[in-house]
Amino acid sequence: MATEAPDGIQANADAAAARPSDASASMFALWPDRLRRSALILLVAGLVLAALVVFGGLPSARAIAAFVCIAGAALVPWNLHDTVASRDATLGANPVDAQAVQAIVAGVPDPTVLLDRAGRVIHLNAAAAQLVPALRRSELAQFALRSPEIITALREAITTRETRRATYLDHAPVDRWMELIITPVPVPSAFGGVDHCMLMTFHDQTPLRRVEEMRADFVANASHELRTPLAALSGFIDTLQGPARDDEKARERFLGIMHAQATRMARLIDDLLSLSRVELSAHVRPDTLVDLAPIVRQVADGLEPLAAERQVKIEIELPREPVMIAGDREELLRLFENLIENALKYGASGGKVMVSSMLAASPDGAPEFRVMVRDFGPGIAPEHLPRLTERFYRVDVGDSRAQGGTGLGLSLVKHILNRHRGRLLIESVPGQGATFTAGFPPARAAPIA
Ligand code: ADP
Repeated sequence: MATEAPDGIQANADAAAARPSDASASMFALWPDRLRRSALILLVAGLVLAALVVFGGLPSARAIAAFVCIAGAALVPWNLHDTVASRDATLGANPVDAQAVQAIVAGVPDPTVLLDRAGRVIHLNAAAAQLVPALRRSELAQFALRSPEIITALREAITTRETRRATYLDHAPVDRWMELIITPVPVPSAFGGVDHCMLMTFHDQTPLRRVEEMRADFVANASHELRTPLAALSGFIDTLQGPARDDEKARERFLGIMHAQATRMARLIDDLLSLSRVELSAHVRPDTLVDLAPIVRQVADGLEPLAAERQVKIEIELPREPVMIAGDREELLRLFENLIENALKYGASGGKVMVSSMLAASPDGAPEFRVMVRDFGPGIAPEHLPRLTERFYRVDVGDSRAQGGTGLGLSLVKHILNRHRGRLLIESVPGQGATFTAGFPPARAAPIA
């Protein structure tokens, strides 16, 4: 007999096989009690029979025969009962009750429930109990799961003995989509032969669903953003071909608007392409050594005309010595262009934009080069801060469009920083401006000042 159980069923068989000796041990322990009861019965029977012989004229031979029968009946069934009870204990045990099976169910990381073929819960793990608190051992799972789709799937799995799938939706504390897979599992039956248990596992599909939703939202947003200028363009083309055909003044004005709309479309396509390029190479960290300071200066110089137009002064405080990081020059130009341009566009009322840098420690203690772009404009309300890097998210859509924005700039900044293994920090006090900080790991470990 195996001492180390290879599986739960074997372990159970061992336990059951070990029972007769346990039973016989307990039988001896109970003997005096039973003898006392049997002796009491025999005493009463003896007295009754003696009385019948003395006063009732019962022949003594019959009285003896009756006493023997009563004695046999009083003594033998106890033994018989023990034998039947120990056989029942051996055969009636449910093999999937074994602790090993319970341990396996408990060890599955996903919510898992094992049901008998009637749909009653045999075992469930902590994750399942947390997901569906109404599930109880020995109770029908249908009562706890309730959804018609799940009940149908369970019924079909039980009758057809084929795997069935259903969707389980959980709404508290947040929406979760789970795929429920019901797999019939053949197990040895308690009375010989094969029985079928139902193994129910829940698989969390929420991240996949979210990605699908995000992609659908992205396509919808991108089409909408492209359709708006396109509609304006075709409207003006119609007007120029029709009513305004000979109106030279209107033609000049309309052509100006059409140019602005076409530029907006071109910029949107440009940003979309940049975003997908950066995303495609997100896993490959740039390996060229670049100096950040000249890149930032080049961007600031390029934005001087916009700064002059908005009457904003750009102040740059960068170290003279090189600030070396492993980076992609074109992407870094794009990154600082977005940050400084946003500061000039949305923070123009402050009249000043400051670009500075420092060497500091990242949250995990590693050295980090930070480039801060600070403006003194209206700032951003705190509820918008966590969403600013989402694609097409804008605090004020009208304001962004009026500034020629696409709503993709900060998303691009975040992706570029991710690729450089850096991070973006956004701080703002409404009314006092905003600071956008790009943090980069230095090319070589540098001592923190
Ligand atoms: P957009 O193309 O609209 O500028 P971004 O992704 O660059 O898109 O920025 C998203 C939004 O963040 C902007 O529409 C604007 O509302 C807000 N924002 C960005 N920079 C600033 C800033 N310096 N001050 C105030 N708001 C800003």
